[in-house]
Amino acid sequence: MSTREVDATEPAPVASYDAVVVGAGFAGLYAVHLLRKQGLRVRGFEEAPSVGGTWFWNRYPGARCDIESLDYCFSFSDELQAGWTWSERYAAQPEILRYLEYVAESLDLAREFTFETRVEAARFDEERDRWSVTTTAGDTIDAQFVVLAVGVLSSLKPLDFAGLDDFRGETFHTARWPAEDPDLAGRRVGVIGTGSSGVQVIPMLAERAASLTVFQRTPNFSVPARNRPLESAEIEAVKAAHPERRAQRRRTRSGFIELDPFGELQRFSAEERERILEERWAMGGGAQFLRAFTDVGLDEDSNAYVADFIRRKIRAVVDDPAVAETLVPTGYFLGTKRICVDTDYFETYNRPNVRLVDVRKDPIERFTADGVVAGSEHHELDCVVFATGFDALTGAILDVDIRGRDGRSLRDVWSAGPRTLVGLAVPGFPNLFTVTGPGSPSVLGNVVSAIEQHVEWIDDCLRHMRDHGHATVEATEEGESWWAEQARSSARGLLLEKAESWYSGANIPGKPRALLPYVGGLDTFRRVCDEIARDGYRGFLFDQAATPPERAIGDPVGTTRTLS
Ligand code: FAD
Ligand code: NAP
Repeated sequence: MSTREVDATEPAPVASYDAVVVGAGFAGLYAVHLLRKQGLRVRGFEEAPSVGGTWFWNRYPGARCDIESLDYCFSFSDELQAGWTWSERYAAQPEILRYLEYVAESLDLAREFTFETRVEAARFDEERDRWSVTTTAGDTIDAQFVVLAVGVLSSLKPLDFAGLDDFRGETFHTARWPAEDPDLAGRRVGVIGTGSSGVQVIPMLAERAASLTVFQRTPNFSVPARNRPLESAEIEAVKAAHPERRAQRRRTRSGFIELDPFGELQRFSAEERERILEERWAMGGGAQFLRAFTDVGLDEDSNAYVADFIRRKIRAVVDDPAVAETLVPTGYFLGTKRICVDTDYFETYNRPNVRLVDVRKDPIERFTADGVVAGSEHHELDCVVFATGFDALTGAILDVDIRGRDGRSLRDVWSAGPRTLVGLAVPGFPNLFTVTGPGSPSVLGNVVSAIEQHVEWIDDCLRHMRDHGHATVEATEEGESWWAEQARSSARGLLLEKAESWYSGANIPGKPRALLPYVGGLDTFRRVCDEIARDGYRGFLFDQAATPPERAIGDPVGTTRTLS
């Protein structure tokens, strides 16, 4: 029995679990699988009606992965790997969603989730060392742990266009695309946004619509995907070598099997540089292209050289020189926004039904009942597609009203920018974990690999707690400061430090500016996290207050349930 009594007047919790997991994308599915496997009673909550996360919501035509399918999937299970066959080099959204449904079905995960339910708030009860989680369904759940697997790109950037409510046409957001694909035949369509989502959706909309008007503020660097069906021989080779490939992938900096770089660009003659870049361009894919030389992320001249190569490619493809110049990215370093991977993106601007509007020159002033005014021109439109992006990394976490020790709100604690210990934990918020949170490598590379690392670390930490009879774990202030300095020093000298994009919160007005992901690489990050655990969870504190043994992991106050 606990030394602290439970207040009898307190409303009884609707349900009590060892862990609540929020989100049913790659991260939430894996978290539920591992925590359940170690014997914890887990409840997942997901706003969507089924699993998939990113791949449930982003159903827009043209949506595909930009990391090759053979790597953009779980690596932890030989059985899952053996039972699934990708059809294309870069799988399209329906196939990735089917893959996640296959994972959920194979591991029998869906029954652990409550769907169509948002977690609204989570409050840590210091008397009981437990979280009280409330949902949009009006339920309160009592749990020892909360794992936020809420996604790095799941909270939409708010739409702040003047007059939007006046618009009588239809509007769509790429990240909330309707399950039933809208019929755009014969319609005048506008698209706002030319990031990865815009770059993928624009060629597809151009084929369907009577006319397509693209409102571009910042042009993007994009590399052709050169997507193609996978051949059975290569699939079989990958399947046969899965354990070795998994080990190799886990040693990489970016979470996918990387081609060897050639070295520093400055060491090569002009002819050699062209040959290398042409070779990588012909292979297709943005991440491998960016990594052809080792100093593109470091050296301004090397960066400018590779950026110019892409600019030349754009000018060579786009027929109208004025349109080509508008599409050529300038004013920021290549790689300081996530590089796009496209299929016929620049070619699309040669179509007679496509028009490009430069909203840097002619800003969007307002929506009207039947269109958009940009500059002095009124563009008549039947529907508008927003590809305007996300409040990345912190948005979905802070959408939940999270209160830690002393009732302190995470929104207040992060008001000047997020601070974490290895992107996993925040001082003052015991037993709360974030997956791919700010301060972790998350979006810099293959996010699925980052997710696997994080979730496995959390799983190990909870096992450690059970083995040692701990009730709470939390990051210390010292640990957090140490990590902030590690993260800063790993970014020092990198061009990424100058990122003006969602990597640094620059896309959201008023959001504190800080480079959100850890840029030291997933390989280094993994080593650091392993060392932290090996050193008895250096930087973390177990059981801030002396804890009676019966209040260890898995034992909600007042119960004596033993975990298997
Ligand atoms: P998500 O898949 O975003 O899942 C989070 C889930 O949590 C969502 O379903 C959301 O509804 C739910 N949720 C959030 N808050 C709450 C709440 N309060 N209550 C209940 N539910 C909640 N990464 C790559 O590495 N390669 C790619 O090719 C790639 N392509 C991408 C393409 C698109 C269009 C987008 C938007 C992102 C892409 N990403 C890519 C990043 C992608 O988000 C990750 O790869 C990965 O899918 C993230 O998985 P997750 O489980 O962490 O988050
Ligand atoms: P994004 O990269 O943030 O792009 C948003 C676009 O909308 C930008 O062009 C932005 O212009 C524009 N925009 C936003 N607000 C605007 C406004 N008020 N007026 C005019 N233009 C506005 O978002 P995203 O394209 O959805 O991609 C986000 C990330 O998701 C990607 O970087 C990638 O990691 C992932 N993703 C991957 C894929 C893939 O290929 N697998 C596909 C989609 C998404 P500014 O740049 O000027 O702000």
